[in-house]
Parts: sequence; C-alpha cells; structure tokens
Amino acid sequence: MNIYENNQKRYDKACELLGVDANIHALLRRTRRQIEVNCPVKMDDGSLKLFKGFRVQHTRAMGPTKGGLRYAKGVNLEEVKGLAFLMTWKCALMGIPFGGAKGGINVDVQKLSIGELERLTRRYTKEMSTIFHPDRDIPAPDMNTNPQIMAWIYDTYSSLAGKDSPGVVTGKPLECHGIEGRIEATGLGVATIALEASKDYLDLKDTSIATFAIQGFGNVGSIASKTFYENRRTVVAVSDVTCTLYDENGLNIPEIIEHVSKTGVLKGYENATVMDRDEILFLDVDVLCPCALENVIKKDNAHKVKASIIVEGANSPLTPEADEVLSKKHTIIVPDILANAGGVVVSFFEWNQARSMYRWKKADVFKKLKEDFMIPNYNAVRDMARAHKTDLRTASFMIAIDKVVKNIKARGID
Ligand code: NAD
Repeated sequence: MNIYENNQKRYDKACELLGVDANIHALLRRTRRQIEVNCPVKMDDGSLKLFKGFRVQHTRAMGPTKGGLRYAKGVNLEEVKGLAFLMTWKCALMGIPFGGAKGGINVDVQKLSIGELERLTRRYTKEMSTIFHPDRDIPAPDMNTNPQIMAWIYDTYSSLAGKDSPGVVTGKPLECHGIEGRIEATGLGVATIALEASKDYLDLKDTSIATFAIQGFGNVGSIASKTFYENRRTVVAVSDVTCTLYDENGLNIPEIIEHVSKTGVLKGYENATVMDRDEILFLDVDVLCPCALENVIKKDNAHKVKASIIVEGANSPLTPEADEVLSKKHTIIVPDILANAGGVVVSFFEWNQARSMYRWKKADVFKKLKEDFMIPNYNAVRDMARAHKTDLRTASFMIAIDKVVKNIKARGID
C-alpha cells in the first residue's frame, strides 16, 4: 500500500460518515492532473542524462494548487499523487485558499554536483513553466529541496514570464522575498499541537512532567525538540538515520543541535545513551512524534508502540493498519494534515507577502501561526472528534472534506 491508497481509505471513511454525494466523492478521490517530464541535463563530464520529474494537482476547487517539490531516489507518480491528495485536506483543514499539489524528481541528490543540481532545477522549471504560476500552482521545498533550489525556480520562472514573480514559489531565501520563520514553521506547529494534545489527553495531574520522543532530527524534528525543551518539557529521546539518543532525565537539546550542526548526524554525541535507530518508536513515553518519513509504524510493529499520544510530524508515518491496532489500545493519534500544517500556513503568509511586498516580522508570523491557525484548528478537530465519537484523523478529514464539498456544490461542476 502506498501513501495514496492509504489516505484514500481514510478519505472514504470520512466521506461515508459525512454522507458525501457519490459523484463528488468519486471526483475528489482522484487527482485532477498529472504531468510527467523527462528533464535532459548536461552533466559535468559532458554526458547528457535524463531525469524523470512529476507534478500532480489534486483539485483546484479551493484556489491555486500548492505543494512541495521532492528530490529523491525512486520518487514515482503514485507517491506524488498521494502527497498532492494530502495537501488538499491539509490546506482545507487550515482554512487556507489552496488546492493540493506535489512535485518530485527521481534523483539521488548526493550524486549531483551543485552545478548539476542547478541545471536540473532550472530545466524542470522550464518544463513546468506553463504549469507553475503565482495564481495557478505554487511549489515549495520538501524532501532534499531547500531555499536555494526555490530561488533558482523563482529566477527561471521570472525570466520566462518576463516579469519578477516572487509569488510563484514559497520557501525562498530571506534575501529573495522569503519569509521570516518559514524554517521553524513546521516543527513549531508540531510542538504546539503536541503540547495542546498532552493537556487534553494525558492522564497526568501536571502535564509539564510529560515525556517526549522525537523520531527524525532534521528540520521538523530538531525544531519540535527545541520547542519542547524551551517549554521545559522532558525530551527523553531523539533519533535520526544513524541512531537513537536516550536520557530518562531529559536530553540537552541545544547541545545536541550544536553537535549535529558540526557533524551532520546524532551519532558521536557522547552525553546520552545510544540505542538502535528504530528503538525510539517503542519507548515508554507520553508523546511520540514521528518526524522522519512515511510508513514507519505499520501492522507488524504497531503493537510494540507504548506512547499514549502520537503526533505525526512526517507525512503519513502511520499506515491505516497501524491506526487500527493503535485505536484498540486507545492511543491518541494526531494526524499529519493537522500536526505538520505549520509549513504550508507560513508558505501562505509568504505568498501574501509576495503579493503585497510588505515584509512580515518573525514574531507576527509565529503569533499568527499559533493563535490563528494551529490552536483553533486543533480545537475544532478535537471538538468534532468528541461530537462524532470518532478519532482525530477521521475528524480532521471530515472538517476538510466538508469545506471542499461545500465549495464544489456552490460553484457547480462544469
Ligand atoms: P529532513 O531531511 O530535514 O530530516 C529528516 C530527518 O529524518 C533526518 O534527521 C534523517 O536523519 C532522519 N531519518 C531519515 N531516515 C530515518 C529513519 N529511518 N529513522 C530515523 N530517522 C530517519 O526532513 P524534514 O524537512 O525534517 O521533513 C521530515 C518529514 O516531515 C518528511 O516526511 C516531510 O515530508 C515532512 N514534512 C516536512 C515539512 C517541512 O516544512 N520541512 C512540512 C510538512 C511535512
């Protein structure tokens, strides 16, 4: 099962509970448009190599389509469709005026020189020049893409459009119309939601004694860990691709961030117990945040998870089979479309900034992100779940689907 099929299952369940019209159910079950390109790139040794790239738009009902661009080995159309599908529900749940999209290139970035990476990005942008547009389809960073890559997209697109077009892409560097706080947005959102959920669902007199474990120490995981630490919560474990670090009294997160900034990985940090990489998933903690990659908790290991709350920082880290096993254990699962939506919310701010050319302050970005988007939408999902006696994932899908269905009904299908 891939991300697309996994989330179609969840979508079907929510549609059934909402009683969605069968035609609209079928319409939104599929992605609307998928583009596959072969990008020719001149390599440093003079040879020409072809890289397969994709862009998928799920629905344009709510506004321009929006979604990240992923560079990874093995990226394929089904994966990109699944991620575009999720983006629609994430944006609708947050109440931002975008439909879902996603892009990807099948490439091992470790094997490219910086010049090859730039030429690949510019070629992909040229292939997508009639697809990308500030009012039609707006890419952003995702796995292995970064502000520099977004700046190349902005520059290439603007040259072709014959006008400066900063609204065509988000996640740009600060010096190229980027927004303060975009780097922190997703991790901060994950931590904000985890702290709210721990108040509502942990059976503790004092929630400040709750323990946290965070899988993945990249952009999302490290910022979430830092936010817990700054809120005086006990982060007992963090992990990355190399290992798990554990300390029952709490890890020194700023020291670990410094170690990773020097060495690139957690391995080699000496002031903690070192465990196997995947052990983090099965620790006896109050809150587990999988912030690394998809499908890490599944049918064959879900029964070993001891956390009371799981907050999905990554996209689709749990399979539907894992949801089932964990719901029998009464584990609370805060879904990706709610928990990791901070990134796209701040991308929405950045898109607005490009339209007005008025620069936002970091403190305003964080305040608006937390107070106008993450906390109210978390509260709405929790209340919906209670009202319908369902789980938070189904409630999130129900709120998001209802908004899109109402929009389509009002506009009509032509
Ligand atoms: P990243 O590349 O910065 O970090 C990924 C981290 O996961 C690294 O620390 C890596 O070592 C670790 N990792 C990789 N494989 C692992 C494994 N098998 N076990 C444990 N750790 C492993 O990526 P990121 O931007 O932090 O994104 C993480 C996840 O969050 C992805 O699923 C991404 O799609 C999702 N996401 C990111 C954003 C964002 O704004 N960055 C927004 C929404 C969703």
